[in-house]
Amino acid sequence: MVNEQLFINGVWVEGKGQIREIINPADGNILTEIYEATENQTKQAVEAARYAFDKTDWSFNKDMRVKVLLQIANLLESNADEISEIETNNTGKPIRESEMDIQDSVACLRYYAELVKSESPLQIEMNDGSLSHVISEPIGVCSLIVPWNFPLLLGMWKIAPALAAGNTIVFKPSELTPLSLILFTELLTDAGVPEGVFNLVLGDGVTAGSAMTTDSDVDKVSFTGGVETGRKINEICAKTFKRVSLELGGKSPMVVLDDADVDKAVEWILFGGFFNQGEVCVASSRILIHESIYNTVINELCKKMKSINIGSPVEKTTEMGPIISEEHLNKILNYLTIGVNEGACLTGGKRINRDGYYIEPAIFTNVKQHMQIVQEEIFGPVITIQSFKNDEEAIQLANGTKFGLAAGIISKNVARANDIASRIKAGTIWINNYHIPYVEAPWGGYKQSGIGRELGPHGLAAFTEVKHVNRYNTLESLDWYKLD
Ligand code: NAD
Repeated sequence: MVNEQLFINGVWVEGKGQIREIINPADGNILTEIYEATENQTKQAVEAARYAFDKTDWSFNKDMRVKVLLQIANLLESNADEISEIETNNTGKPIRESEMDIQDSVACLRYYAELVKSESPLQIEMNDGSLSHVISEPIGVCSLIVPWNFPLLLGMWKIAPALAAGNTIVFKPSELTPLSLILFTELLTDAGVPEGVFNLVLGDGVTAGSAMTTDSDVDKVSFTGGVETGRKINEICAKTFKRVSLELGGKSPMVVLDDADVDKAVEWILFGGFFNQGEVCVASSRILIHESIYNTVINELCKKMKSINIGSPVEKTTEMGPIISEEHLNKILNYLTIGVNEGACLTGGKRINRDGYYIEPAIFTNVKQHMQIVQEEIFGPVITIQSFKNDEEAIQLANGTKFGLAAGIISKNVARANDIASRIKAGTIWINNYHIPYVEAPWGGYKQSGIGRELGPHGLAAFTEVKHVNRYNTLESLDWYKLD
C-alpha cells in the first residue's frame, strides 16, 4: 500500500504522524503500515471541509448529492468482494458478515439518496394570513468518528445521511481498522465527490480524534464508541454548543419467556451473544430466562455452544472469528477471572491455542445483578444468564444497568412481549428477532448508551438544522405604536 493514505481537500497525502502496524487478528501478522495524521494535518482537513461547505455549492445542490450518493452505492456494490475481504482481514469478522456489512452499506447510501430526494419543506398557512416554511438545512462541517467492530457499516450510517443533507465531512476510522475506509474513499472520489467535501484522517483519539472535536470550525461531532470516550467528547462539545450525537456501549438483555420454544430460543441466544465474536454494541450479553425453563435452556445452550465453528474468518463456513487484538482479548480474559472471583460459574472462555486472538464463547451462570460481569460491557463472546419468576422481575433485571441500547424478547405471546417491550428502557427492542439493523428505523441508546439516533429519518435529522421562515407577501402598517 502506498504511503499517501490521508485524503485532504481532494488529494491523497502522506501522514506525518505516527507510523502504525495494522495487524490481521486471525494470525497476528502485519497487514500493512499506516502513516497517521498529525494534529496539524487534521486541522487542514477541517479547514478543507469548512471551505467546501462555505464557498462551494455542495450544500445547495441536492440533485448533485443524490447523483453522487447513488454512484457511490453502485461502485461499492461492484467492488463488494474486494472490500469485504479487506474488512475481514482487518477486523477478523467472518467473511459472510463482512459481505452483509457491504450490502447494508449500499442499502444505506441508496436509502438516504431517496429520502433526501423526496423531502420538501413543510408549508403552513398561519391563522393570521402569513405563510411559513420549515426548512431542513445542513449543519456544516461534521467530524465523524467510528470504532473497529463495523468500520465500513458504522461509517456509512454517518457518511450517507451527512452527505445527503449537504454537510461536509472529516472522517476518522479506528486506528486499528482503517483499511476498508481507505478503499471506500477511493470509490468516493471516483463517484465525483467534490474536493474538500469528504476528508479522511487516520490516527488515534489523542491526536486526530481530539483535533476533530476541539476545532472551532467543526459544527457537529457524530461519534460511535465507548461510553468513557463519549463522555469526554460530550464535555468538549458542550463548551461551544457543538451539535453532538453519541452511539455508545450497551449491556443488552434478551428475555426468554416461559412459553418460548427452547430449541429455537437457544439458537437466538447464541446469535444474540456471539455474532461478530460478541463485539457488537447491541450484543445480548445478559440472558434472562424464566425459571420454569432455565435448566433446560442452559443444558441445551452448553451443548450447542460447542458446535459453533470457530476458525479462519476468510472461510465461508466460519461462524466465529478472532477477537480484534491481543489487548482486547486480554481484557475479555480478565473479565472472565473477575466473574469467577465474584462467584459466578464459567463454562467455556478458554483462549484457543493457535496463532491469532481466538477464544471460546463463554457462559456465566450463578450470576447476581450487582456483579461487574453483569453491569459492565465486556464486548466479547461472553454472556451471563439469570432466571426470573415473573414479567415484573424480568423487566426490573432488564432495566438494571446504566445502559439502554437494545433488548430482545422471545415469546409466542405477542401481546405479552409488546407489554414488556413498552416497559424496557432501550432504543431498539427485537421481539422474536435480534441484531438486524433496519435502515428505515432509528438506532440509538437510552440512558448512558448515547444521545440521538442514527438510521431512518431520525438519522438524517441528526445532520440538519431546522429553519422556520415566516412571511407576508406585502408589508402592512403595524399600528403598534401611537406614532405621529
Ligand atoms: P473507543 O471509544 O475506544 O474508540 C472509538 C473511536 O473513537 C476510535 O476511532 C478512537 O480512535 C476514537 N477516539 C478515542 N478517544 C478519542 C477522543 N478523546 N476524541 C476523539 N476520538 C477518540 O471505542 P472502541 O473500543 O473502538 O469501540 C468499542 C465501543 O464502541 C464499545 O463500547 C461499543 O459498545 C461501542 N459501539 C457502539 C455502537 C452503537 O451503535 N451504539 C456501535 C458499535 C460500537
